[in-house]
Amino acid sequence: MAKKNTPKTLCSFCGREVPNLLSGIDGAYICPDCIEQANEILKEMGLIATQKDDSPKNTRKSAKTELALDKLPKPADIKAFLDMYVIGQDDAKKYLSVAVYNHYKRILQPAAADDVEIEKSNIILVGPTGTGKTLLAKTIAKMLQVPFTIVDATVLTQAGYVGEDVESLLSRLLQECDYDVRQAERGIVFIDEIDKIARKSDNPSITRDVSGEGVQQALLKLLEGSVVNVPPQGGRKHPEQEFVHVNTQNILFICGGAFDGIERKIAQRLNTQVVGFDSVGKRQQIDKNNLLQYIAPQDLKSFGLIPEIIGRLPVITYLQPLSMEALRNILTEPKNAIVKQYVKLLEMDGVRLAFEPQVLDYVVEKAVEYKLGARGLRSLMETLMMDVMYEVPGKETKNSEYVVTLDYARQKIEAANMLRLKNAL
Ligand code: ADP
Repeated sequence: MAKKNTPKTLCSFCGREVPNLLSGIDGAYICPDCIEQANEILKEMGLIATQKDDSPKNTRKSAKTELALDKLPKPADIKAFLDMYVIGQDDAKKYLSVAVYNHYKRILQPAAADDVEIEKSNIILVGPTGTGKTLLAKTIAKMLQVPFTIVDATVLTQAGYVGEDVESLLSRLLQECDYDVRQAERGIVFIDEIDKIARKSDNPSITRDVSGEGVQQALLKLLEGSVVNVPPQGGRKHPEQEFVHVNTQNILFICGGAFDGIERKIAQRLNTQVVGFDSVGKRQQIDKNNLLQYIAPQDLKSFGLIPEIIGRLPVITYLQPLSMEALRNILTEPKNAIVKQYVKLLEMDGVRLAFEPQVLDYVVEKAVEYKLGARGLRSLMETLMMDVMYEVPGKETKNSEYVVTLDYARQKIEAANMLRLKNAL
């Protein structure tokens, strides 16, 4: 093989015009990107040895590649990890743990020993805003140490319109792993607010709907797994920009949305359906207070997702609104709970911080009263703790204790401008 510098020649593998191509016989050329990809494939197949490179950059990346079938956490381990960070939402945690486990088993399966092909298990999480959808996806990515990115479906538009092309969500994933395409190709993308790109009526439109159905169509090819030309810097595609080819086959897509009003669609379906009988012949009772637990693909269709998208999101699960007890637990239980963080901060000044138990109940009451949800807990605690964090360090003697009382909490939170708090969320 000879090195050749022919700017006008196209790579015979990806078809791109790239300056430095290697030529083969019969006018075939290959570009550096395709050489690298071929190399990776051979490594994965065990046909060539993986070179050891201990440079800091590669050590960091290889820490992320350590996914191996025998080391892969089992669904129960994944759920136990989620339990450390996310309160409640047991059903969603179980569905996610199994789907994620199967997804990575599928990626790591030894080269086809038989004809059984495991299909991709992209996930859709349905539940009110601020109940932990993003947190769940983020926590899973943290556990598996795979590249992770969050994108808002509302910024995406169909190609050719104002807004971001759907491919730009892969640009962000690439940025997350220093443009290591191989890492990105096994990462997780969380697409938030997927309900906002629902088509407005249940009838397929003749003229395309730029913000809704058009984007869903564009998303399809990413979800189903294909090689996508990604603009490395994100944003819009420019003809002069060199694209990075990313195969989305093994990227796990987790979509989340509040789907406001979907309970009505569920109720309609349940009312028109013949009510089933369980194994002991009793009529199944429907829990009208928590209709989301019955969510099914046809409800997403009634809401305005196109059937092809629903087909690409085979795992559907739901999140419950957070009860007062759950909100109270969020303050103290997770590994990085807000209260634990304040205690730690003051511990570094030698001060033991404590809260009267009613203080935390009061914060939860205010979060519910002002409809601030879980997100508001942090802002409320910050309002409450601002002066403490300002005054206590340096003022209190080492090894002293500082107790936040209910009176103090009331005074601080009542003085705060709730409207500003609400708008800050
Ligand atoms: P969503 O994606 O459902 O709108 P998020 O996951 O972004 O909501 O939640 C917002 C914040 O609220 C999180 O960062 C976290 O601090 C808190 N939170 C929400 N739900 C939970 C939960 N179930 N357990 C612990 N914290 C939660």
